[in-house]
Formats: sequence, structure tokens, C-alpha cells
Amino acid sequence: MQITVLGSGTSQGVPVIGCKCPVCQSTDPRDKRTRTSILIRTDKVTVAVDAGPDFRQQMLREGIDHLDAVFITHEHKDHIGGLDDVRPYIFMQDNKPMPLYVEETSLPEIKREFSYAFSDHLYPGAPTYDVHIIDETPFTFGDLYVEPIKLKHYTLTCYAFRIGKFAYVTDFSEISDEALDRLRGVEYMIIEALGRHKHYSHINLEQAVQIATDLKVKKAWFTHCSHHMGKAVDVNAELPDNMMLAYDGLSFVIND
Ligand SMILES: [Zn+2]
Ligand SMILES: [Zn+2]
Ligand SMILES: [Zn+2]
Repeated sequence: MQITVLGSGTSQGVPVIGCKCPVCQSTDPRDKRTRTSILIRTDKVTVAVDAGPDFRQQMLREGIDHLDAVFITHEHKDHIGGLDDVRPYIFMQDNKPMPLYVEETSLPEIKREFSYAFSDHLYPGAPTYDVHIIDETPFTFGDLYVEPIKLKHYTLTCYAFRIGKFAYVTDFSEISDEALDRLRGVEYMIIEALGRHKHYSHINLEQAVQIATDLKVKKAWFTHCSHHMGKAVDVNAELPDNMMLAYDGLSFVIND
């Protein structure tokens, strides 16, 4: 299984429009963060987890010519804003509606945002989706055994996805003991860390390091970072050896 970080930035991305801070002015490519998303590839399937506003550029950058599904963590715009841009895949793949795996409470926002895709009178060229409602019940997609894990994202529900030794855990402010238990045994983890300070709807770097340490992961990468995090080079120097900030384009393979 190959994991590629499509985007590693918070909802505004980094650089933030108009910001003159050292992180936004940095020339280090690791400090250029498009909106958070990953791609999971196996011999059988290619799946995006979320399709944010930068989806088109991310897929062009990575040269992805096939997509089998999108798993949605939650309905915030930075995670669904690119769902219209799955159209090239639909057109290339015999006009098959794009499978979306999404929790029930996230669906109304997707239907509102992309109402034209759910219309009884589809305009030619409109995207179509094959919606699969998920809850905490594990499901199989191709050769992936996926365990969705419920998180609390301030007032919203957000889902983490565990696939064997790997977990992708973003956009949450609270994680229950039960959810933590379901993550035990994970060896590789991409987990959010918004910045340095406490935040009402996201965890910060200190909390993310704590969770990764508690879970005794072999390797943790932090994502959904804001410009308040600092430059990647400086933050990485402070982190334990097995932890680092994720960056756009980061790719690694996990063997079974
Ligand atoms: Zn987000
Ligand atoms: Zn800035
Ligand atoms: Zn969110």
C-alpha cells in the first residue's frame, strides 16, 4: 500500500493569502501546504481520502489518471470543495458515478454544496456520485479493509480511517478512549496538528505528539498544519526522531 500526502495544510492553506509571516514567505517547498488530503494506492485500488479545494492541482501534480473512490472524513469545505473535480475520472471511467464513502451527517452538506449532482434532471457533464453511508462498521473496498473511527471535531463528527498498520486521523478536538483503543497496533500514522496553541476544533502539536507516543507508533507525520506551526525545518528539529511534519507530495509504502 502506498500513501501519498496530497495536501498537508489547514483550511486556508499555507501561504495564507496576504500574509507576510516568515512561514508564508518561506521558499522551502515543505512550507507550501495545500488543503489536507491523502491518496491510498494498492495493486487493486486508488482512493482519495477527502477532495478539498486543491484536489485538481494535487491530482495533476501527482499524475493520477485513475480514481476508484473518495472516502470523506467530514463535510468541511477544505475536505469536500474539490468533489466537482472528480469529473475527469468519471468521464475516463465509462461515466461510472464516483463512489463516495461518507457518514450520514456529512451527506446533507455535500448535497447542498453539489445540489446539481443530485438533481433529478442532471445537466450534461454534471458529476455523479455513488453514495455509501458509513458508520463505525468496518468495510472492504477492493483489497482494503477499512475501519472508520469516530472523532469529535468541536460540534461535528469526523472520521479517522484505519487500514491495517496505517491510520489517517485528522480534524478532531476530542478522541474517546474507545477510539484510541481502536487505533492501538497502528504503526504508521498521519495525524493532524494544527499549530502550537490550544484550539476549539483541532488538536495542536503537543497533543498530537502525545497521542502518537501513547500509541507507540513507529512513525508519525503531522498534517493539517497552519502557518502558526512554524517552518518545517525548525519544527522537525524539535520533534522526536520518529515524528515529523508531513509535506505535500510525501509518499511512503507500507508492506503487509
Ligand atoms: Zn480541515
Ligand atoms: Zn503566514
Ligand atoms: Zn474540519
